[in-house]
Amino acid sequence: MESNRIKCDVLVIGAGPAGASASYWLAKSGFNVVTVERKKFPREKTCGDGLTPRSVYQLEAMGMSSFLKTTHRYEGLRTVAFGKEMELSWPSHPEFPEVGYVVTRYRLDEAVAKNAANAGANLLTYHEALSVKLNGDKQVQEVEVLDKATNETITVEPRYLIVADGSNSRIGRMLGASRNRDLPMGLALRGYFSSPLASDRYIESHLDIRSETGEILPGYGWIFPLGDGRVNAGIGLLSTLGKWKEVNTTKLMEAFIKGAPKRWELSIDDPIYKGTGGKLPMGLSISPRTGKNYLMAGDATGSINPMNGEGIAYGYETGKIAAMILTDCISLNDPSIINRYDQLLEENYGEYYKFARSFVKLIGNPTIMRTAVGLGINSKIVMRPVVRVMANLMRPDHLGPSEALFKAGVAAIDAKDRIGGIVTGGFSR
Ligand SMILES: Cc1cc2nc3c(=O)[nH]c(=O)nc-3n(C[C@H](O)[C@H](O)[C@H](O)COP(=O)(O)OP(=O)(O)OC[C@H]3O[C@@H](n4cnc5c(N)ncnc54)[C@H](O)[C@@H]3O)c2cc1C
Repeated sequence: MESNRIKCDVLVIGAGPAGASASYWLAKSGFNVVTVERKKFPREKTCGDGLTPRSVYQLEAMGMSSFLKTTHRYEGLRTVAFGKEMELSWPSHPEFPEVGYVVTRYRLDEAVAKNAANAGANLLTYHEALSVKLNGDKQVQEVEVLDKATNETITVEPRYLIVADGSNSRIGRMLGASRNRDLPMGLALRGYFSSPLASDRYIESHLDIRSETGEILPGYGWIFPLGDGRVNAGIGLLSTLGKWKEVNTTKLMEAFIKGAPKRWELSIDDPIYKGTGGKLPMGLSISPRTGKNYLMAGDATGSINPMNGEGIAYGYETGKIAAMILTDCISLNDPSIINRYDQLLEENYGEYYKFARSFVKLIGNPTIMRTAVGLGINSKIVMRPVVRVMANLMRPDHLGPSEALFKAGVAAIDAKDRIGGIVTGGFSR
């Protein structure tokens, strides 16, 4: 084995949403960025493939509007529960668009990574980061990278490192990051199915998935039309259900597909169906997220929204925030600016994720889950603000029902924190 050396301003490990976004924004700032991705594009990534307005906003900011036009656009969300259905278009927002798209990660991630490369990032696919060497001052000095095509190792000497290696985050764990097990976690399974409604203009969310004993579970089933003859369908479950590890997710998925509305014509025997699953670390449950000259982004920080399982937008967003921080560190030659990363994450997500963590803890109780879904599915007046809160699309400039609901929730959590848990009982971090 031969050893080569590369020096760069920033090494980014992983070219999923978080890594590709960080690479794009750093390259746009003119820095020498090397991005290593262990897979070859295009590559599969287990996901529901749903892009909400938050993701669309980030993709458009990265100049990817023309790419989005080649994918399946949808207008809103159809919620289904207890035999009832309700269609809700995406709410208006001063910043975020009122549309979403469904596109396989097979296509999306390649396009976004290439976009970063076109902006100037040195994208090395089929290159896997193996290990990180710290100096006596706990700074990352070198990263060993394997070129999987030649089997040669490359030693990268970056001034700064961004770890964006996804939910398993082997490199993050090597650097000491770990998940706070008191915070929620998701588990989801998805597959592709052919369907005559593959070009439907609504994504569908089923809020009444049930255990084998008929209990409503905290989580949901989804059917997302891809516009190419296929839909992405799956189930997601939250760890706030005490016995969640006992739930057989394969059986849950089979039951969901068999019970899905007939119009979709889904079949578990569909030859294109092959279920794959993954973990959803959520609510910023992974820390520490920074070191002397490195930081983490995306699933490596557990940035998925606990209220809807959305992680692509938060990958793009945290990748961009990480890039902004490093832009200042390098431009001002001040590594201590890295410490502002946690502060920025807290400013952007702190309150919302505090609320979200309490909400999902609450719905871990099957009675509360059933009551909440029963209330929502019968009234657009209830469901509309709930969807706005769950998709994190509240308006900064307006106090409507969603914003009021959110503020009331946060106030209740704060009150409980102040007086030690006597007030609300259910709300708890
Ligand atoms: C079943 C399921 C359904 C989901 N559905 C949705 C959805 O519909 N919408 C949504 O917004 N979110 C969804 N999510 C969440 C979403 O997939 C993630 O939050 C998102 O992919 C996180 O992006 P990331 O860049 O942090 O990590 P990833 O997308 O996992 O990217 C990490 C990248 O790093 C690479 N890598 C890992 N280790 C190394 C290494 N050592 N060296 C080099 N490269 C490495 C990997 O190959 C990968 O390409 C779903 C998740 C699951 C499991």
